[in-house]
Amino acid sequence: MSEDKALPSLSTLTEFKDELQFLEESSCTPENGALPEGWKVIVVDDEEQVHAVTRLALKNFKFADKPLEIISAYSSEEAQQLLDQHPDTAVLLLDVVMETDEAGLELVKHIRDHLHNLFVRIILRTGQPGIAPEKAVIEGYDINDYKTKTELTQQKLFSSLITAIRSYRDLLNVEESRQQIASLNQQLEDAKQNLEKKVQERTQALQQQTLALAAKNKQLEEEIQAKLYAQKALEASNRKLDEANKQLSLIANHDALTGLANRRRFDEYLQQIWKQAQREHQPLTLLICDIDFFKQYNDTYGHLEGDICLRTVAQKIHQAIVRPLDLVARFGGEEFAIVLPNTDLAGGQVVADKLKTMIHSSQLPHRGSAVSAFVTISIGVATVRSPSQQSLATLIHQADQALYQAKQAGRDRVVALNPME
Ligand code: GH3
Ligand code: MG
Ligand code: MG
Repeated sequence: MSEDKALPSLSTLTEFKDELQFLEESSCTPENGALPEGWKVIVVDDEEQVHAVTRLALKNFKFADKPLEIISAYSSEEAQQLLDQHPDTAVLLLDVVMETDEAGLELVKHIRDHLHNLFVRIILRTGQPGIAPEKAVIEGYDINDYKTKTELTQQKLFSSLITAIRSYRDLLNVEESRQQIASLNQQLEDAKQNLEKKVQERTQALQQQTLALAAKNKQLEEEIQAKLYAQKALEASNRKLDEANKQLSLIANHDALTGLANRRRFDEYLQQIWKQAQREHQPLTLLICDIDFFKQYNDTYGHLEGDICLRTVAQKIHQAIVRPLDLVARFGGEEFAIVLPNTDLAGGQVVADKLKTMIHSSQLPHRGSAVSAFVTISIGVATVRSPSQQSLATLIHQADQALYQAKQAGRDRVVALNPME
């Protein structure tokens, strides 16, 4: 049906009797009673013949491999019901004058404004253009095409319908794309919100962890500070304790007047050296010095001067004794004992002579002395060659004896007794 054959007007309908006959025979309804899935076109017209002619004219119509599904409505009201049932209607072929002069135009308004169906393409076909003039209708109503029934040849109906269906299909495609985009947008928005929520949760968790760590850190720092403080306090008190111990040991082991080792320290040291000499089979010599006529000294110069003299003599003896293992101690009032480890009698005698000469030549005045104008000392020397436990007291006794002999012999001298066996 490609030739441009004019659609018959209502008045000349009888000329198409044969074709109408054919239409009734072939029918637009398939044998199984179901309409084939196609483009839904609702023909709205109160004239039965228009329906028949339209069906006839569009009998072989196909677009995009799909036929038409033509539905007939005979009034505006029926068209409304059918549009409710078939919201997927592609095209409305709509008459203007039906139950009223403007029934068709009112249907257009209803479709667009109340049903909000903006997809269905509306082709207005009027037999009385005087009632609905093209310009006013095109401007005033949302329709897609305007045709007078007389100008609508079969070919023009075809073209009009193809244009309308194509437009409908494109609108659907655009709508589908729009919906897909909207759906994608929604998915994106959901994903974004989900992500934001997760980021927020993670951030909160991290903040809490950070706070907990900071608190823990602070606590640890405080503990460290407290420990450091305690440690410093402990160190300080340990230092004080050490100092006190040193002081104590100094006091415990030294003589306050002369600063020499005291008798206690002397006894202790002699014991220690005695054992060492035993182990190493070394000789050990002991010197006991005593200031001559010291009672006279006090009597002559006074006790304070006596103290000063004692200190001076002590310092001089201390300075003269240089070996690290040697020990000078205050043995008694004006007596000094000198321990000389690993030293035999001859060595002890040399040291004693040196001390005696050194004190004498220091020329400390002593008017009360019967033997010299200066302070002198007497020294007893005793040695043990190979010490044994029981002879320690004897060594002291022997040195004492030697000192006694020196006094007896006139003072200001050294007496060395032969070493014990
Ligand atoms: P000798 O020559 O026989 O040793 O006669 P001496 O007078 O030195 O001996 P004696 O034992 O008779 O007297 C010792 C004196 O030493 C008596 C005491 O007053 C004095 N003396 C003892 N210790 C101290 C002291 O710490 N300071 C003073 N100033 N004198 C002391
Ligand atoms: Mg004495
Ligand atoms: Mg004396």
